[in-house]
Amino acid sequence: MSGTGAHPAPGATASLASRLGSLVHGLPRPCVLCGSWDRTGLCRQCQLRFVATRPALCPRCALPNAGGATCGRCLREPPPYHRCVAGVLYGFPWDRLITRFKFRDQPELATLLADVLADVLTDVLAQNQPTPVDLVLPVPLSASRLAERGYNQAWELARRVAARQGLPADAGLLLRLRDTPHQVGLSRSERTRNLHDAMWVEPAGRARLAGRQLALVDDVLTTGGTAVAATRALLAAGAAGVQVWVLARTPAPA
Ligand SMILES: [Zn+2]
Ligand SMILES: [Zn+2]
Repeated sequence: MSGTGAHPAPGATASLASRLGSLVHGLPRPCVLCGSWDRTGLCRQCQLRFVATRPALCPRCALPNAGGATCGRCLREPPPYHRCVAGVLYGFPWDRLITRFKFRDQPELATLLADVLADVLTDVLAQNQPTPVDLVLPVPLSASRLAERGYNQAWELARRVAARQGLPADAGLLLRLRDTPHQVGLSRSERTRNLHDAMWVEPAGRARLAGRQLALVDDVLTTGGTAVAATRALLAAGAAGVQVWVLARTPAPA
C-alpha cells in the first residue's frame, strides 16, 4: 500500500512536513510574505496591505467594477453561475503564493490561502442577501492530472473554506473525464465546448445535487471557461443554482 512501504514516495517528506506544520499551527512562524513572526503565517501588516485593499468587484464575474455593480458584459451575457466571489485579484504577491501552493509541493499554504478566501466570503456574504449554499464542490482535475500532482489544489481550498462556513463538501460528485484538450487556436466558444464535454456528474451523484444550491471552488479564475463548463454540467445534473468561489481573479482579458 502506498505510504507504508520502505521506499517513501517523493512527496512523503513534504507531506510529513505539512502534517508537522499543522501540528504547530498557532505557534509563531514567519509571515510567508515579509518574514516577520506571527501566528497565522500571514502577518497583520501584510493582510491589511494585500487583502484589505481590494477594489469593488462585479458580483457576477468578480472583475473590478465601480461601486460593485453588475458590469455591462455580465448584463449583456450573464454567466451560468449566479455569483462569483473572488478572494483577491491575481497579481503580486498572490501569484507567487499560488505557484508555490500549486506547483512546488507546498500544500501547507492551503490553510493560509483558504483563510484569505473564507474571510472575504464572510464579509461579502454578510453584506448581501446570499442564496444559502447546500454543498461545496471543487473544480475537479482529471484522474491522470490528479495522479501526477498528488492533490487537487481546488479541493484543498474547498474543504477548508466549507469547514469555515459549516458546510458539507464533496470532491467526488463532479468529474473531469479527461484533461482539457489543447486550447490554442480555438475560438472562445470552441474552448468552452471542449471543457463542457470534459465535465460530468455520474447518475449516482445526481440525486445529491438535485435541487441543491452549490458553491464551486477554484484557485484561479481567468477566462471563466472552466467555471462555465463546470456550472453547466452541475445545472444539467439537476442543481438548482451554482455560485463560484475563487481565491484569485485575473484581470479582464485584453
Ligand atoms: Zn507579513
Ligand atoms: Zn461582470
